[in-house]
Amino acid sequence: MEIPNIPNLIYYAIPFFIATVIIEGIVLYKKQPKSYNLKDTFASLVMGIGNVLVNLLSKLLIVFIFTFIYQNYRISTIPFVWWSWLLILFADDFCYYWAHRMGHESRFFWASHIVHHSSQKYNLSTALRQTWTGGFFTFVFYLILPFLGFHPLMIFTQMSISLLYQYWIHTELIDKMPRWFEAILNTPSHHRVHHGSNPLYLDRNHAGIFIIWDKLFGTFQPELKEEKVIYGLTSNINTFNPIKIAFNEWISVFKDAFSTKTSFTNKLKYFIKPPGWKHDGSGLMSNDLRKKWLAENVKE
Ligand SMILES: [Zn+2]
Ligand SMILES: [Zn+2]
Repeated sequence: MEIPNIPNLIYYAIPFFIATVIIEGIVLYKKQPKSYNLKDTFASLVMGIGNVLVNLLSKLLIVFIFTFIYQNYRISTIPFVWWSWLLILFADDFCYYWAHRMGHESRFFWASHIVHHSSQKYNLSTALRQTWTGGFFTFVFYLILPFLGFHPLMIFTQMSISLLYQYWIHTELIDKMPRWFEAILNTPSHHRVHHGSNPLYLDRNHAGIFIIWDKLFGTFQPELKEEKVIYGLTSNINTFNPIKIAFNEWISVFKDAFSTKTSFTNKLKYFIKPPGWKHDGSGLMSNDLRKKWLAENVKE
């Protein structure tokens, strides 16, 4: 099989990221100087740079594992032709949806993904606010791809395309896209909901490129005019320190598991169960918060 020479697209996009973050920053600052926070933008940029550096290492591990599965266990051989790119566009996006959903619904994965949600602002720089730890394990949700017969290079390329797609949706400057577009694809409006800490918006719209997965698996929530998005976490960590942003939730989950006097199974559950779970049943998870909010706010 002929394997094309495809570079890492993310590296090529970096100058474009920086230029557009600056342009958007100027626009936002001119609109509302008080609400633009340069420290927040810098923190996001540092998280992004750290992510690229850590990925140099984690990628070695993933290349090794994907190649191992592809060479020894693949059930077919998918060539580098146009329809394979169409196939992997959907296959990768499906894996992304579940990886991202688990990033919200299981505290171990949340400890890494929380980084992306730690800003109380929402602009293009927020897209670059990325985990320093997830690279070492989030790939487990993609193992099906080399097994099905997608070449590791094709998988990496599509993962980069997905990341690039999701960059432009991190903005408040675009209200709604045309109706057909909003119906099929992930958009700034859908993803603003995803970054909301409002009970109604918690753990909704996990999509990467296509919003169809959320509609299919029951996690879709449109952005409502009457419910303005409050960005960030249900309890914000209020720091611009990159080390704290990267590791705060890891410390907190280990603390919860090991400083609590409870059974080994319960300790384990602190890592598996959704954020907010407590072994004594007193914890509120996002589903509880949403139900409570709906009961209080939606009149029959
Ligand atoms: Zn998320
Ligand atoms: Zn996002």
